[in-house]
Amino acid sequence: MKNKTIAIHKGTLRDLKTGGVNTPIYTSSAYNYLSKDETFYPRYFNTPNQDAVAKKIAAFEHSQAGLVFSSGMGAMSTSILAFAGAGDHVVMLDALYGGTHHFATEWFSHFGIECKFTKTSADDVINGVTQKTKVIVIESPTNPLLAVVDIKKIAQFARKEKITTIIDNTFASPVNQTPLDLGIDIVVHSGTKYLGGHSDLCCGMVACSHEKMKKILSLARVLGPSLDPRICYLLERSMKTLMLRVKEQTKNAMEVAQHLSDHPDIARVYYPGLENFEGHEIAKRQMNGFGAMLSFEIKDKDPNQFIEGLNIISPAVSLGGVESTICSPSLTSHAKMSAGERLRIGVTDSLLRLSIGLEDADDLKQDLDNALKKVSHSS
Ligand code: PLP
Repeated sequence: MKNKTIAIHKGTLRDLKTGGVNTPIYTSSAYNYLSKDETFYPRYFNTPNQDAVAKKIAAFEHSQAGLVFSSGMGAMSTSILAFAGAGDHVVMLDALYGGTHHFATEWFSHFGIECKFTKTSADDVINGVTQKTKVIVIESPTNPLLAVVDIKKIAQFARKEKITTIIDNTFASPVNQTPLDLGIDIVVHSGTKYLGGHSDLCCGMVACSHEKMKKILSLARVLGPSLDPRICYLLERSMKTLMLRVKEQTKNAMEVAQHLSDHPDIARVYYPGLENFEGHEIAKRQMNGFGAMLSFEIKDKDPNQFIEGLNIISPAVSLGGVESTICSPSLTSHAKMSAGERLRIGVTDSLLRLSIGLEDADDLKQDLDNALKKVSHSS
């Protein structure tokens, strides 16, 4: 099946009783166990609605198995802990999503896990590996600077060394990048973003081989971050339009990125689709599209005042919805980091992260231009 067909049909459980074309919502938390090979139970991650979305993500990510969680962090923390324990070493990008970074810095020592944070180049990641490294965790493009990581190079190295690789594929979504095809072992998503796509649900997803999933599922069943069937249904409905949404959002993002990069009030635009962007060549090799996230810095103007001048684009911390949203990473995702550390990794106070939605690109450009003009007048 091709992606557009997967989106609509994969995993759907037709309603045999009525002939309805949608997966019915199975609300039970108590199921008959007599003469059944498998007992259904929400925390076993095996109820029909959980299974329907798990099958869809597996098909999108070209994996043997999929699993849905109650949050992206539930998916990520369970996946890491399934393969790293006391005495093990993990290599992570220091540009990883803040929650994953925080999990490592605050909680790894509790589990006896050591961690090395590295920069985003494949050589930096590879140089961070020791004899004790069991897991490498990467993200590409990264949040919020959109650094593009050479996924294949890291995956090939890790395969040789028998190190498990995990990638957070939230920013790209499976529409724009399928990392298992590049040799990665485990793909994790915050499904709260593009998979849900309407800023109205929280979930996480994992895609990998049956072998790796066996361990993740075993741990997930005792940690318990399972997703309610009603939310699974909403997610399934959203995933039917994933292809259409993300393709259109990606197209819009390219237009907005080009517009901003030509704007005299903009100092710098971070978007993998721009030819002069550092990671552009790698992105061209490993992505099907450049995604709908971009960041930019405005010149000598108050970024918060600029945000207040926007009418269509809303200030909000999440991303990936049908509506465009903007945030200042130094005040949101990276607020807990010291100002010095933020500067070291390139997150300046004037950096703004934009999640492009499904509005008309001309209206978005106009909204940005108007807000930029308003700040010039007031400063
Ligand atoms: N990964 C990325 C790239 C994110 O942006 C987020 C949340 O913002 C997460 C993971 C965590 O996902 P959740 O909030 O669904 O737990």
